[in-house]
Amino acid sequence: MRTEFERNPEIHALAETLWRTFIQRDDLYARQLDDGRYCCVRKALTEKHLLAHLKGGITLGAYVLDTDSRARFAVIDADDDHQLARLADMRLSLAREGVPSYLEASRRGGHLWFFFDEPISGKTARSFGKSILKSVDLNDIELFPKQDKLGDGPGSLIRLPFGVHRKDGQRYGFVTIRGEALASTYAGQIRVMASPRVVDKAAIEKVINWNQVPKREPVLVKVDVNGEALSVQIKRSMRVLDFVGEYVELAPNGRGLCPFHDDHNASFSVNTEKNYWHCFSGCGGGSLIDFWIKLKDVDFKDAVGELAKMLLIE
Ligand SMILES: [Zn+2]
Repeated sequence: MRTEFERNPEIHALAETLWRTFIQRDDLYARQLDDGRYCCVRKALTEKHLLAHLKGGITLGAYVLDTDSRARFAVIDADDDHQLARLADMRLSLAREGVPSYLEASRRGGHLWFFFDEPISGKTARSFGKSILKSVDLNDIELFPKQDKLGDGPGSLIRLPFGVHRKDGQRYGFVTIRGEALASTYAGQIRVMASPRVVDKAAIEKVINWNQVPKREPVLVKVDVNGEALSVQIKRSMRVLDFVGEYVELAPNGRGLCPFHDDHNASFSVNTEKNYWHCFSGCGGGSLIDFWIKLKDVDFKDAVGELAKMLLIE
């Protein structure tokens, strides 16, 4: 099948389909090097490149985010057979939930593709992918897009399907849930990918919500302390760790995801010895009153009033 595209009279239509389904931007492109890595070429992508990709002369990478940091697909990259088997196993149950996926073989493992009915933010695409990985207990696995939002560069990319892997000279196709080729020829597979079944908005939302921790109603105990300024009484009534722990999921070492910024690194921390909280990403820190001011977006006076009602006996 290596030379399948050379003689195919439909190759222009196939290249166009490949473009429509997989290409997010045409102001630059990525080319795979012989060692399997990619380099970014800061020149316009044209049909010529896609034709060469199909014919095997070059191999392109597909950037996952467009220039507005939106994705039309997400891909889980299983590196080994164990991960691949887990992903293959889950496809049927995902499909039953309205989440169709396409499994593409690879040099090692495989790529599981999810297509969306319209472009969604990189952040939403990642929440969707992370939720799926969490549900199958696979964490140490690559998810594309790798960024919520583009920084300076063009972001993450994945091998554009149907090309020749530069490292082993092989092409890899898509397989069905039963593990058979999606179509008997690569051209046939590309035609299927012209209009892949998509994950719609409702299904995306459903998947993201699978692993949401149900919001707990804080349980606070009122304390009888008298004779001091209200703010001092409030600070004495409860440890910062216990108060903040009602609102933020904290690990035993006092660290957790900061509720004040889009945190993926557990930047939030409570110092139990000195009794204050702090965000290492610059959201500030302080007493439980400072926490309440920031959490509820109120001023000091209102915060003291609200906390006194919550924590102190009249
Ligand atoms: Zn923060």
